[in-house]
Amino acid sequence: MKATTYAKALRYMNAGAVEVLSQTENVIVTRVKGDTGTWLVVGDDNGYTCTCPAHTTCSHIIATEALVKP
Ligand SMILES: [Zn+2]
Repeated sequence: MKATTYAKALRYMNAGAVEVLSQTENVIVTRVKGDTGTWLVVGDDNGYTCTCPAHTTCSHIIATEALVKP
């Protein structure tokens, strides 16, 4: 993971850009207001996916993970 990705995730968290839409025992859905758009992150037993074009462990996923696992 790039340090800049982590820094971005921290910035999103501090800005309150991560909104939990739904959270159950196994699944979490958040909406993250990023620099280039608003994305949905879904986390379940298989890991996290994000609707942004990065197709990798992006800052939105990291921000969501940090939210559910402080
Ligand atoms: Zn993303």
